[in-house]
Amino acid sequence: MHPDLEASLLHCRNLPSPPAIALQIIELAQDPDADLATAARVIAMDPALSARLLRVANSPLYAGRRRVETLAQATTMLGLNATLSLALGFSLARGLRATDGAAAEQERLWKRSVLSALAARLLGEHAGLERLEDLMLAGLLQDIGALALLQARPDAWLALQDGGRVPAPLEREREVLGDDHAAAGAWLARQWQLPDHLCDAIAASEGCPAPANAFQACVFASGAVATLWLADDDPDGALRTAAEARIEAGGIGGPGTLDSLLAQMASAAQGFGALFDMRIVQPAHLQAIIEQARELLVLRNLREIQEAARARREADASREHIRHLTEQARRDPLTGVYNRMQLEEALEREFAAASAAGQPLSIAFVDLDGFKQINDRHGHLVGDQVLRQFAQTLQRLLRSTDLVARYGGEEFLVVLAHSNEAAAARVLRRILEETARTPMAVVDGHPLYVTFSAGVASRDGHDSPFADARAMLQAADQALYLAKRRGRNQVGQHGQ
Ligand code: GH3
Ligand code: MG
Ligand code: MG
Repeated sequence: MHPDLEASLLHCRNLPSPPAIALQIIELAQDPDADLATAARVIAMDPALSARLLRVANSPLYAGRRRVETLAQATTMLGLNATLSLALGFSLARGLRATDGAAAEQERLWKRSVLSALAARLLGEHAGLERLEDLMLAGLLQDIGALALLQARPDAWLALQDGGRVPAPLEREREVLGDDHAAAGAWLARQWQLPDHLCDAIAASEGCPAPANAFQACVFASGAVATLWLADDDPDGALRTAAEARIEAGGIGGPGTLDSLLAQMASAAQGFGALFDMRIVQPAHLQAIIEQARELLVLRNLREIQEAARARREADASREHIRHLTEQARRDPLTGVYNRMQLEEALEREFAAASAAGQPLSIAFVDLDGFKQINDRHGHLVGDQVLRQFAQTLQRLLRSTDLVARYGGEEFLVVLAHSNEAAAARVLRRILEETARTPMAVVDGHPLYVTFSAGVASRDGHDSPFADARAMLQAADQALYLAKRRGRNQVGQHGQ
């Protein structure tokens, strides 16, 4: 690229969109039922917005590792909100005075882009190519360089166009501007990190370099077909001959191809005839459209923020719900203390930590005395009430660092961290005294008391008689058995 031209194109990021497209984007952005497919269809008529979406979708700040090659991929990846937000950032041509021909030239370039897109697609269909959407996009973007040159160097570009009927020869463009619009378009497309096949097709869109494959040949021929279509007349048949020559040179059609192509275009082009007839002559109107778009952009961003906040709240609530469920799964439903599984896990941890730190650790099995009789005399419901009340009493009398679990039936396991055997036995005796004084239920107005038997097992500092937590559990169970045998209502210690 010629350095002067590069300098003028360097900051040419947002090319103007046709006003009719801008209004359609505004309409879509206001519509709560707008969908992605419609948005993509509107954007596909505008080279500026199409390039912008592809550019953003491929930007390293946004994109993943996968290259986004088509508009459909880009819009799907961005989603409706981002697509519309980006599209709302359209720019409208300011300062082009209809009188000096710039506005008319811009309109010609927009029309040529859309017609080229259509022609490229139809040519691809004729030639049996598969990537028809890609072809349309390449056809649409092939004149992006011309749009940019019109914006960057309007006087020079207009002087070259000679009323716009016949395109200026490329050599003239190079003489005047330092390079031609195809090279400028390809340079911009590369700057914007558009996919390689698009950059290459834009570069070859005027035959210099020559098209290297059928895809590029379709794009190359499509421009000439569009020019022929747009011309009011073609008295010496030069435009027609040029279009035919390009089709044949690319090997994508024969003598009849152009006519059938033109016939197909006639029906397809009806749909967007009105699209470019819209002219906005009053600058105030232009400003109003831009302001409306900006406001919508802010509104959509606000909505996005609201939605994100709601999604966050929902995520928090479901995390809390899961935490609650997990906690529930850890606890015994009748008494609310930990269940056996949970405690065995905790005991493994405590045992490992105590071993590593050389700290004492005690455990105690606690089994209610004669509990079966309570059930038998007063019924299961009273039995349940006793179990609940007893579990609460246990928990109340232990330190918060101690753990209580219901091991099964009327049997509980207590883990006393940092307690040696003597201290643990003292704690259990105190609890036994307190339990014996505390009514665990009231039956027919009479308080019901229980006692328990306990079996304590401990490891002391580094000197542990137990290889693991399981061995310690067995020892505590034996101590409990002894306490029962010795008459209940007492605390037994392992090894005593
Ligand atoms: P010991 O002094 O030898 O421990 O005698 P015990 O009657 O306390 O012990 P035993 O093992 O003979 O009986 C325990 C009873 O606990 C039997 C069982 O029905 C009752 N039980 C177990 N789980 C529950 C429960 O969830 N609710 C009620 N109400 N009773 C239970
Ligand atoms: Mg019992
Ligand atoms: Mg028992």
